[in-house]
Amino acid sequence: MISAKNIFKDFKGLQVLKGVSLDVSEGEIVSIVGASGAGKTTLLQILGSLEKPSEPEKHYTQIRVKKQELTNLSDADLSKFRNENIGFIFQFHQLLPEFTAFENVCIPGYIGNNKKSQVHEKAKELLEFLGLGHRMEHKPSQLSGGEQQRVSVARALINQPSILFADEPSGNLDSKNAEELHQLFFRLRDEFGQTFVIVTHNEELANMADRKLVMTDGRFEI
Ligand code: ATP
Repeated sequence: MISAKNIFKDFKGLQVLKGVSLDVSEGEIVSIVGASGAGKTTLLQILGSLEKPSEPEKHYTQIRVKKQELTNLSDADLSKFRNENIGFIFQFHQLLPEFTAFENVCIPGYIGNNKKSQVHEKAKELLEFLGLGHRMEHKPSQLSGGEQQRVSVARALINQPSILFADEPSGNLDSKNAEELHQLFFRLRDEFGQTFVIVTHNEELANMADRKLVMTDGRFEI
């Protein structure tokens, strides 16, 4: 699903990633842990095409997601590829406060050529699967933290992405809601074969993953 080699990143002379390589198989759940500032979020953003690696030609960088090489795509093609294949879940769910749960899930589905009626059907199906069928018309402020995060999971899934990148997904949840969210990730993998790469400081989640990678100072520990 992902084959990445020799990823380097520097921000104005600060070397953040120092040659990271990573392979992820379809249906695998990989966790990435490590000290604050180690480069975990930066890596996730590059794999998810939200950031670009530094000097990919010089470093022979390769980032293949679903066999598509990302380093030589134009910005427009990259954005299209991202919309069609990649979902993101963040610590702070970034739901739009003025829209209902249902609308928040639908909005990214309207990008592209999807039919409105199909987007609505999928959003309803996802919210029901996530136990939020009775909360569809609620605004984010009327939902609990755990419910809000589940809405953001439904939003990430609306375009049926091949891979989900999650950055501290349970960082803002209490232990009960965190546990429920972690179980949900495994249900999505077991029932739909969803692939996950998860950056987390939550030890329980990190250890539940099929594989745990430890990042120290811009590199994976061997
Ligand atoms: P945390 O666990 O605290 O989220 P992290 O391992 O995810 O940390 P990153 O967020 O990837 O670490 O940041 C790695 C380093 O890169 C940090 O020193 C950070 O300040 C720096 N950095 C990240 N993004 C930028 C940016 N856009 N501009 C400049 N420096 C940045």
